[in-house]
Amino acid sequence: MGLKIWLGDKLVDEADAKISVFDHGLLYGDGVFEGIRVYNGNVFELEAHLRRLYESGKAIRLEIPMDETRLADALEQTVQANALVDGYVRLVVTRGIGTLGLNPFVCENGQLFIIADNIQLYPEELYEKGMKVISATTVRNHPLALPPQIKSLNYLNNILAKIEAIDNDVPEAIMYNREGYVAEASGDNVFTVKDGAIYVPPVEAGSLGGITRGIVIRLARQEGIEVIETNLTRFDLYVCDEFFLTGTAAEVIGIVEIDGRVIGDGKPGAVTKLLREKFFKYAHGKE
Ligand code: PMP
Repeated sequence: MGLKIWLGDKLVDEADAKISVFDHGLLYGDGVFEGIRVYNGNVFELEAHLRRLYESGKAIRLEIPMDETRLADALEQTVQANALVDGYVRLVVTRGIGTLGLNPFVCENGQLFIIADNIQLYPEELYEKGMKVISATTVRNHPLALPPQIKSLNYLNNILAKIEAIDNDVPEAIMYNREGYVAEASGDNVFTVKDGAIYVPPVEAGSLGGITRGIVIRLARQEGIEVIETNLTRFDLYVCDEFFLTGTAAEVIGIVEIDGRVIGDGKPGAVTKLLREKFFKYAHGKE
């Protein structure tokens, strides 16, 4: 038995969840999406995800074909239909069916679908020992070419970096912008710790305004840790005391090596561990 997929305005069987080859989401990557966690049966940070989705849609002049209340209800129904307790929801809005030309306005209606599934996490061992990464040679999309705040279906830039990571036998690659400042990892945001303070690249450097990033910044400040949003160079990554990534799927994961340089003492540091724990409690409603 397959999954129940929300497609358009109703739940359908996985086998019937099909979209047209003329959909501009497929032809041009013209669309927006969200990746959302479900913890204990609850859709995590629903409001923040909906806000980002509608803002992404507005920025590319794509009308989300449902208002927020109905969309929240569709999400809830999809989670329940799949009896999802802890998992991941992918909410996608494409430009819809059009012609072979670029013009998005020939597409009459956006196409919306929701997939609620189990989540493939990094192995637990990687959280304990920390992860190795490399610097990608692929430069992150210039923010003036495609604003990084838009969570669009156009992930080729990130995929090129991901290929570099895989070629180097590591799970993630750090992407820099054209000026050489750190932007983000291929699917996660970057944090460093130096002399007790946390440093985070600004969104303008070319990173998505991650929901997890926002929560972790808040949790760190609650702990009395100073958080500074500033441009970081490759050198800053090489000499920091701690380095970690945040994202919906990864949550908080320590980085212990980049380009062969060992970070700190080669294990996830105290601040990383504290924030991972605080995030876990927050996500599971214990704080
Ligand atoms: N950057 C990119 C490019 C991403 O795809 C993601 C994951 N959606 C993130 C950062 C992390 O964002 P969030 O915490 O909202 O998942």
